[in-house]
Amino acid sequence: MLEDKTPQRTPLSQLGEFGLISHLTKNFDVKQPSTLKSIGDDAAVLDFKGKRTVVSTDLLIEGVHFDLSYMPLKHLGYKAVVVNLSDIAAMNAKPTQITVSIAVSNRFPLEALEELFEGIAMAAKIYKVDVVGGDTTSSQKGMIISITALGEADEKDLVYRNGARENDLLVVTGDLGSAYMGLQVLEREKQVFQVNPNNQPDLDNYTYLIERQLKPEARTDIRELLEKLEVKPTAMIDVSDGLSSEIIHICKQSKVGCNLFEEKIPIDPQFINVCEEFNIDSTTVAINGGEDYELLFTIALEDFDKIKANPNFTVIGHMTQESEGAHLVTRANTKIPLKARGWDALSQ
Ligand code: ADP
Ligand code: MG
Repeated sequence: MLEDKTPQRTPLSQLGEFGLISHLTKNFDVKQPSTLKSIGDDAAVLDFKGKRTVVSTDLLIEGVHFDLSYMPLKHLGYKAVVVNLSDIAAMNAKPTQITVSIAVSNRFPLEALEELFEGIAMAAKIYKVDVVGGDTTSSQKGMIISITALGEADEKDLVYRNGARENDLLVVTGDLGSAYMGLQVLEREKQVFQVNPNNQPDLDNYTYLIERQLKPEARTDIRELLEKLEVKPTAMIDVSDGLSSEIIHICKQSKVGCNLFEEKIPIDPQFINVCEEFNIDSTTVAINGGEDYELLFTIALEDFDKIKANPNFTVIGHMTQESEGAHLVTRANTKIPLKARGWDALSQ
């Protein structure tokens, strides 16, 4: 499907390790005041001036977390950054720096890594984070990417998973499930392509879903928006493994129960159409499909008026006593216990 049209293939051995590092990192400039020393010494030096420092890291393995047959390297670089920034946003902190570590086999020429770093640089620019270091090494097979993100926040602004209280409202940003269906579409096209490599996929009806899968965004805008609305969430988490699983994390850590209302879950019209096409229940995907990178949070009931008119937010439920457990309340008004099945629930 996505042929390698790059004519030039410069072997990495031609540059050597240090040549490669300086080539890939030469355009990373410093924008954050907290970055005192960036790439080039044994370690970066950061100064958060009395603020709390937030750190999160992720490891992505080819064949496990990404498939290069439909994931262009530029998108992979972008997404690898975004998923980390999403974790920082979920703490209600501002992302400021990242480090980028990669291991690659000799299957990858310089041009492939340039593409990967183009995506990384684009995300760093859009989200205004400095790339302050990393590591570059070889692997025997495939590509491995590990990104660490740092962020800052005042102690009073940090939001954890354990602060939700009974009667709090459960709120989610954006819409859910589309990234998972985007993956289903790409997997299907990959299989069609394997049978007939001349078949050019027509993906017009799937653009939103594919974009949600290949180019997700981190909701770093929500911290500022909530601050403006004078709302501080009581608990927060990002939706990486699926709504159901994230709700259960908040419930367990906050020692509360939850009622999630099926009819309130925000989904996109294109998502509904494609679920019908795949003959798959849209609610099942919306609550179990992962990789939406939206934020899920709880707020005090008194704050409802401050967020109710904002199109970024949907109230999807409320928190209850722990003994009541976590449930999905269906359109038919039956209560089904929520399970933390994540994406594997959909692969059965
Ligand atoms: P060391 O051998 O001390 O670990 P390196 O030679 O690996 O140092 O790295 C030199 C500099 O380049 C360091 O600042 C390091 O953080 C940075 N660096 C190495 N690889 C990467 C990468 N993939 N992305 C960004 N910075 C990198
Ligand atoms: Mg090193």
